Amino acid sequence: MSDEHRQMGNEKGHGHDASNVVVAQRVTDPRLRSPDAPINCLLVHPRFSAFSFWNYRDTAATIGAKSPSPPLGLITIAAILPTSWNFRLKDLNARPLTEADWEWADVICTGGMLPQQTGILDIIKQARSRGKFVAVGGPDPSSQPQLYTDANALVLGEGESSIPIWMDSWRAGSPEGRFETPEKPDVTKSPVPRFDLLKFEDYVQIGIQYSRGCPFNCEFCDIIELYGRKPRTKEPRQIIAELEELYRLGYSGSVDLVDDNFIGNKRAVKRDLLPALIEWNRCRGYPFFYSTEASMNMSDDIKLMELMQEAEFRNVFMGIETPDPDLLMGAQKTQNTMRPIVDRVNIVYGFGLVVAAGFIMGFDNEKPGIDDAMVRLIEESGINMAMIGLLVALPNTQLTRRLLKEGRLLSFQGKLITSESEMFAASSAHNAPVEIVDQTLAGLNFITTRDRLRIFREYRSVVQRVYAPKAYFNRALRTIRKLKVRSKHIPRWFEIKRSIRGMVMVSLGMTFNRDTCWYYWRNFFFAMVRGPHVVEQAVRIMAIYLHFQRQSRYLVKAIESQEPAQRKVPADLSVLTAS
Ligand code: SF4
Repeated sequence: MSDEHRQMGNEKGHGHDASNVVVAQRVTDPRLRSPDAPINCLLVHPRFSAFSFWNYRDTAATIGAKSPSPPLGLITIAAILPTSWNFRLKDLNARPLTEADWEWADVICTGGMLPQQTGILDIIKQARSRGKFVAVGGPDPSSQPQLYTDANALVLGEGESSIPIWMDSWRAGSPEGRFETPEKPDVTKSPVPRFDLLKFEDYVQIGIQYSRGCPFNCEFCDIIELYGRKPRTKEPRQIIAELEELYRLGYSGSVDLVDDNFIGNKRAVKRDLLPALIEWNRCRGYPFFYSTEASMNMSDDIKLMELMQEAEFRNVFMGIETPDPDLLMGAQKTQNTMRPIVDRVNIVYGFGLVVAAGFIMGFDNEKPGIDDAMVRLIEESGINMAMIGLLVALPNTQLTRRLLKEGRLLSFQGKLITSESEMFAASSAHNAPVEIVDQTLAGLNFITTRDRLRIFREYRSVVQRVYAPKAYFNRALRTIRKLKVRSKHIPRWFEIKRSIRGMVMVSLGMTFNRDTCWYYWRNFFFAMVRGPHVVEQAVRIMAIYLHFQRQSRYLVKAIESQEPAQRKVPADLSVLTAS
């Protein structure tokens, strides 16, 4: 699956060895003499672009929320850092930073993913200009630390392993430097994230994490490089403790398990986690429902699907990638070739889960005309949330290493490069033909095997066709027909208020939009016939179109506007053979 949107490292480790990297310097700021002092720590989560696939702010606004999900990584590191510290969380996707925040802070902790790179660098710059100590971590700084050397501390890899190294160095008088270890932390020691730092009303859903890593071996995936191929799972008691804390704090509604692949360790999920979750839901009166990411083989295990339905799982994101099985084999995504994709998706609908999926264009040896096959697959499988992206060679992946060896890796300006360090340097990202909002548009940073412009045009055609109002709402109707919803979830007052507001706002938004009015009410009344739980799911599926209509228009325009720049990039492999 495509997982670059996932959270920064957040499992707790313990102990470290001689292979740790510690490049530390001494500081003279008296407030920073000891990490065991009551330090004021400002946790800053950089903004995502409003045009990122995942940043469905328009839809979130209908329930009064400001952003889809909170920064799980930051609230987890708050739980790992010394208990003597005071924390203030600023998620710039929800609320702005104020001068009072800067004044208050002794230490700034920030970090994030590739699309947040510019935002992270900006926070570092602002912090340094105010004379503040700033530490960075998370996926992008861990993949490309050379871009973040202006930060005082680079705390790399999984926080649970690297934060104790940072703290030890600090206690020895050196809080500045680079702190990392190849050790993968034991997630059974992970603390409960500091959910109390969140304003629940700012978010559509709250994330928790059960496992890290994935057993598969997709060539383009950076998850397996960062978190390993041996899935590490928390114990059910930890997940229950996290849910209990959310419950205690008054939260109710959607909980997203932000795992790289929820069923990475299927045995543990079936035998340990799901039975515990089912029991806890029952005892607590079903306050939550769940979503997650999982590989397609989940549909092959009926027992697993039954347990997930019983545990109130309602949404799953899968990396389908492409309809062409040869391309899947080439990308080492063999697990997607075992059974017909549409059959597998239909099985999942049969257990009441709505499927969202990632699709990728631009694989090596892709044939012209893939756009038609891609649209057909999306239509037949009835997938509404289809994240359609161009293949991107991410730092630190098998794909990037192969392309480098083959002399095919490009910078954002379309120039051939010879090392990974030149790939995503902020200076080149700033000058890229389009803003890097997420992996949908950051792609094709390599010489393609077929005509590059044709891939861009086929990509544009897929986005236009899939997100045309009629196509979207017809797919939604097909999904509503297939969904077999059996929910026991009982909302608490917090959620009831939001749901009523959301229903009214979505209905108004759809009614006053000429493109959607008829289709929305047609689907709404069809869902009503099938029962209140189906109506709820149907409105959720349709509400997200408020975001997709805007986001897909942006994608189409962005693709069109970068055509002149793409003409200057080597068109295909023939350039290499000619030289
Ligand atoms: S290796 Fe696992 S996490 Fe990565 S894309 Fe493949 S299935 Fe997804």
